Parts: sequence; structure tokens; C-alpha cells
Amino acid sequence: EEDVALLGGEGLELDEDGQPLALPVLAVVGRPNVGKSTLVNRILGRREAVVEDKPGVTRDRVSYPAEWAGRRFTLVDTGGWEVDVAGIEARVAEQAEVAISLADAVLFVVDATVGPTATDERVVRLLRKSGKPVVLCANKVDGPRVEADAAELWSLGLGEPHPVSALHGRGTGDLLDAAMAALPTESQHGVARPGGPRRVALVGRPNVGKSSLLNKVLGTNRVVVDDVAGTTRDPVDELVELKGVPYWFVDTAGIRRRVHQTSGADFYASLRTQAAIEKAEVAVVLLDASNPLTEQDTRVIQQVIDAGRALVIAYNKWDLMDEDRRPYLEREIEKELVQIQWAPRVNISARTGWHTDRLVPAITRSLDSWDTRVPTGRLNAFLGELVAAHPHPLRGGKQPRILFATQASTRPPRFVIFASGFLEAGYRRFIERRLRETFGFEGTPISISVRVRE
Ligand code: GDP
Ligand code: GDP
Repeated sequence: EEDVALLGGEGLELDEDGQPLALPVLAVVGRPNVGKSTLVNRILGRREAVVEDKPGVTRDRVSYPAEWAGRRFTLVDTGGWEVDVAGIEARVAEQAEVAISLADAVLFVVDATVGPTATDERVVRLLRKSGKPVVLCANKVDGPRVEADAAELWSLGLGEPHPVSALHGRGTGDLLDAAMAALPTESQHGVARPGGPRRVALVGRPNVGKSSLLNKVLGTNRVVVDDVAGTTRDPVDELVELKGVPYWFVDTAGIRRRVHQTSGADFYASLRTQAAIEKAEVAVVLLDASNPLTEQDTRVIQQVIDAGRALVIAYNKWDLMDEDRRPYLEREIEKELVQIQWAPRVNISARTGWHTDRLVPAITRSLDSWDTRVPTGRLNAFLGELVAAHPHPLRGGKQPRILFATQASTRPPRFVIFASGFLEAGYRRFIERRLRETFGFEGTPISISVRVRE
């Protein structure tokens, strides 16, 4: 019996050293209406289809935890996104390109009853260019009579087409077996191993000033061109020396590339953000101080927390702030970000460069917390005192006892508490708060899971 309480961070798979393992990413790619969403629902085992009939409906989430044959992976879903009827080809290609860049392997879905179209061929070219493993899904093969149609997809040159009916479930097992064979055991985009320069992502909704800040940082600091030993250079990342220490700024190409302000723009922005966060160890989330906090801002912050990365909040455009309004604004900010008081906050101006030198100390603090390990002895002494002073409330005459706790991993810190019964969510939050008060953890999400032992 296991009761997992995750406070600011999803469960992470751990490797033998207790380091979080980056799960491999499988992206589902294809033209609209070929059945991507239907297939994703089937893979996730969702009974109710989330296939949206309403045009223009966009989903917040793009990736989902999935499992097949005992292997865990991340499924990236590009289905259900409205594509402009005009310029449909370009949109599909752009969508596919972003998804492919995120992926370790691609599940390419084609409608077997229609056969390969010009748009399909375009995606095929992108897939070839990427060099990533591809599994070809010939969808809508609802019965044996349509199997000949599936065989025609050999002509795409991607190898064996797997005949599938996403709607009825036919062939999906074989398809997933093939996908698992193509998928590496660990993501190639995962967290950098200790040793190399630390990886920083600049993220935030469009127009908060990401590219301005990037230009400021690159313009006023030494950009390292020599390869650092033991690191592989990804052309979309940039190595910058800040206060004598090299840092990777990840996905700088994505920051520079403007997202078109058309339908689905949020989706691309969201995908890119996710890709950058996953590559990074610490994310600097930029917010626009001259505008109220939006849902999109909090969503980006949540993406960082869910990914278990270290976090720094940077309030940009502070130059636009009226001196008189500042104290009021500071209070507003405290209220808005009450859930993440643990994240260091810096007020900056990317335009003037004001206080941008405060970013590095904040990044360092957050990464230090992210790496922190509390020795088991200290942790249990702390919990012993805490529980003695504030026991878990009695429920139905029973009181769960905390037996033992240990920190299972760092990056981010992840604690496991063994208890004699279920610990209420409120009490777990209380423990998290006291953990933070006692051990710091400024700038890192932490997770606490509870295992019940009779
Ligand atoms: P997406 O735009 O690629 O995500 O496609 P959807 O999953 O929304 O599916 C488009 C349409 O095709 C829907 O009406 C589905 O019910 C239908 N569809 C999906 N998979 C199958 C299938 O295997 N067989 C049949 N006959 N229809 C399917
Ligand atoms: P991105 O979409 O997040 O990359 O944002 P940009 O860097 O393109 O900035 C969007 C707009 O905000 C541009 O017009 C910038 O000149 C402006 N901007 C960015 N940073 C600042 C700042 O610190 N102060 C002011 N006043 N404007 C800024």
C-alpha cells in the first residue's frame, strides 16, 4: 500500500545512484484527423476520449506519463490542435518539427484509408532530416479488408507500416512493442550529468523579454566558443561565461525564433518551453512587471515545478515601474506568488541591464538547494522533534505514527516518509514547510511521498 503525496513535483524514476532518470520521449505526429488523439487516448488508457469537436480548442498539456510492458515513457501529444485551413501544410510541418525536436522516437500516424498525401511526404522529409527512430502507424485499419491499404504505406520509405485501429484497439499492442524497441531507455534530452557546465533555461510567455535578456547576457559576457571537455555541443544551446563560470543557455534558438501570433501559437510556445525546461537544470521564469500575472505565466511556473527543476523568478521590465507604485506592486507580487515563496525573486530590466547581474547568485542558490542532501540522521532528528511538538491530528481515534524518513534523491530533493497510516495532505504540507524553514531549499521544488507500513 502506497500513498504518494507529491508536493510541487511529480514522481521521478531514479537510476542506481538515486539520480532522477529522464524518461524517454515518444511523440505522436501526423496530419489532422488521422487519429492521433484517438491513439493517444488508447495508449494512456483513457476511457473517455478527449477528442475535441470544437475548433480552436487548445489544450494546456502536451506531454503525459505513459507506460507499456513495464516501461515508463513520456508521451507527447500533438493531436487536437486546430490548424488553419489556409497554410495547413506549413502549420502541420511546424508542429511536427517542434514535436520531433522534443522526441527520442516518433510515432508517425498516417490514415491508411486515405493513403500518403503531400503533407505526409513533407513530414517524412522532416523525420529523415532528424535521424530519429520512427515507427509508422497505418491507422483506421478497422478490419482485414483495409490491410492492403496499410501495405501501400511501405512507399513512404519509413519501413514497415503497422496496421492499427486506434478506434477499436486493433494492432495497438504490436505498434507499442515496435515503439518500445525504437525508444532508448533514457531520454537524450535529459538532465545533464554532474560535471559539465550547468544548464539554464530562460522561459516565459511571449513578449516578457526573453530574447532581450538573452541578447543582454550574450552581449555583455564572454561567449565560450571552445568545446568544454566532456560536453557535447547542441547547436541550439550557447555556452556563456558569467562571473568566471561557464553556463549552458539551452534552446537559445527557440528563444530567438518568433512564434507566429496565429491559432495554436500558445501550443508551440508551450512545447518549446517544455523542451527547454526538460533540457535544463534550472529555469529562470521571466514575468512582465508592467502587467498583471496571467494564467500563462503561472502555467510556465507549474511546468518547471512539475519537471522538478530548480526555479528563479525574474520580474522583468522593472524600468517601467513607477517609483511610487513599487511598494504596492511588491505586495501584489507576494500575494500572487504565495505558493512559491520558496523561489528566489529578482527584479531586473533586460532593456537597461539593471540588476541582471543578480541573476547568477539567484541561479547558484537555487541549484545548490536542488543538489542538497539532508543526512538521514539529521532528517529523522528533525522529524522526531516536529512530531513530538505537533503530532498528526487524531482521526477516528487513530493517529498515524511516523516511523522513519529518508531523502531518496537530490536534483530535486525527494523525501520518503514511512508511516503507520495515511498522512493528511495538510499535515504533509506542514512537514514540507518546516523542512524548508529548517534546511532552506530556496529555489527548488521538493517532493514528499509517504509509504504506509503496518
Ligand atoms: P487527430 O486530429 O489526428 O488527433 O485525429 P482524431 O483522433 O481527432 O481523429 C479524427 C477522426 O478519425 C475522429 O472522428 C476519430 O473517431 C476517427 N478515427 C480515429 N481513429 C480511427 C480508426 O482507427 N478507425 C476509424 N474508422 N476512425 C478513426
Ligand atoms: P520575448 O518574446 O519573451 O523574447 O520578448 P522580447 O525580448 O522580444 O521583448 C518583447 C518586448 O518587450 C520588446 O518590445 C522589448 O523591447 C520589450 N522589453 C524587453 N525587456 C524589456 C525591459 O526590461 N524593459 C522594457 N521597457 N521593455 C522591455
